[in-house]
Amino acid sequence: MKFIYTAVITFFLTGSLLAQNVESYFKAIRKNEALLTAFFQNMPKGGDLHHHYSGSLYAETYIEDVIKNDLWINRETLEVRTGSAKPSKDDWTKFSVLKIEGNLPEYKQKLMEKWSVKDYNGLHLPQDKHFFETFGHFGVANGEFTENDIDYYKNGLLELKRRAITEHLHYIETAFTRVNNFKPIPSLSVYNEVLRKQKNNPTALLATIDSLYKRIEQGDIRACATKHAQLVDRIHQEAGIDDEKFTMRYQTFATRISEPVSFFTQLIGGLMSADLSKNIVGVNILAPEDNDVSMQDYQIHMYMFQYCKQKFPKVKTAMHAGELTLGLVKPEDLSWHITNAVTIAGANRIGHGVDIAYENDVYSLLKRMKKDSIAIEINLTSNEFILKVKDDRHPISLYQEYKVPIVIATDDAGVLRTNITEQFVLLAKRYPEISYQDIKQYVSNSIVYSFIEEPALKAKILKTLADEFNVFESRFGGK
Ligand SMILES: [Zn+2]
Repeated sequence: MKFIYTAVITFFLTGSLLAQNVESYFKAIRKNEALLTAFFQNMPKGGDLHHHYSGSLYAETYIEDVIKNDLWINRETLEVRTGSAKPSKDDWTKFSVLKIEGNLPEYKQKLMEKWSVKDYNGLHLPQDKHFFETFGHFGVANGEFTENDIDYYKNGLLELKRRAITEHLHYIETAFTRVNNFKPIPSLSVYNEVLRKQKNNPTALLATIDSLYKRIEQGDIRACATKHAQLVDRIHQEAGIDDEKFTMRYQTFATRISEPVSFFTQLIGGLMSADLSKNIVGVNILAPEDNDVSMQDYQIHMYMFQYCKQKFPKVKTAMHAGELTLGLVKPEDLSWHITNAVTIAGANRIGHGVDIAYENDVYSLLKRMKKDSIAIEINLTSNEFILKVKDDRHPISLYQEYKVPIVIATDDAGVLRTNITEQFVLLAKRYPEISYQDIKQYVSNSIVYSFIEEPALKAKILKTLADEFNVFESRFGGK
């Protein structure tokens, strides 16, 4: 009786009796993982804005692929290679031979462990190294992006799309491929040293970046970017991906462990490609942030982004920043990466942002992120595995307290053997201060802060989300 009375009062106050019921149900189940899993599996989830193509496919897909194509495998190192001729040493054999020998199941298991965190024993490599090493094993995903690989990419994108629809996502924004195959211009290598010398002198640095930009533009970068954009659009179209019931868009990226000139060329190529393709909506910066080169060149990268924002004002940037924690790098290196991604590079969204509590003037930074609507992409499983940051060591509550727009994402569901549902389960279980209404807000944020360029499409997805939430919540209306 008391419950009904409370619910009726709430109905008059908020206009939503059903929301009260689903909230009560949610409150009652938030410590039970199985009940939460069923709840979130069915809850509409909007978009997954932070994940990587090669890390989102499950290892099973890669294994099926190498078996189907009967590639070479090194029995000792488990390296996999293409090509008709046997690689020189005796250790190499074909997958078809392993099958005849009856050894295929054993090798499948070994590859699964090498290409993902399945049965990870904590001994083989430090966790972050194990994770980033897996990307080195993803053959074609890490290699050339050419017409020969179209089927591979089409199938991969369709796998991601199928899984997303099953999990009641409406949109995914995948860090897909980067512009490559450009011819390096040897005479530009002198810029690497100049840029590094000037990294604490913004005026000189920006002048050098400007001069470098003009030189890079004279090379084949525009042709490579055009080819890249056309290829992404072709794969998107041939895979039959449209905006009818589900939407997919892509990011391209530059890898922060490259030399400055190479990094800048990738960045310019990515921005050009994003400008040309209606399906590429943003540019990111990837690879381990604690790598020596990443750390050394971080400031240079920020000014390169700042410079490029003027050249390509329409292209949005999501930036991995602050994917660091105490113990991984020196304490002083935890104090400025997110700050500079926001204040210098002009990031539209921040990926991870785990070190925020250590940033200089953290409170002003959080206020700025809220004021400028810079969303934070939270990846709970990834942060737990790679950085060992979880529970209340994770800064999600800090972002929540300062009302920075939050979105929930998977990062690398395939490598980490997780999914978007599990991210919401962890969120509900670990952070009791986050309410059902907050979670609904995060779902809505994932469309609002997506880089979808068409306002009408965004509005359409938000309307679908609202309708689906009504249906979802009505299931709990009688309780
Ligand atoms: Zn990531």
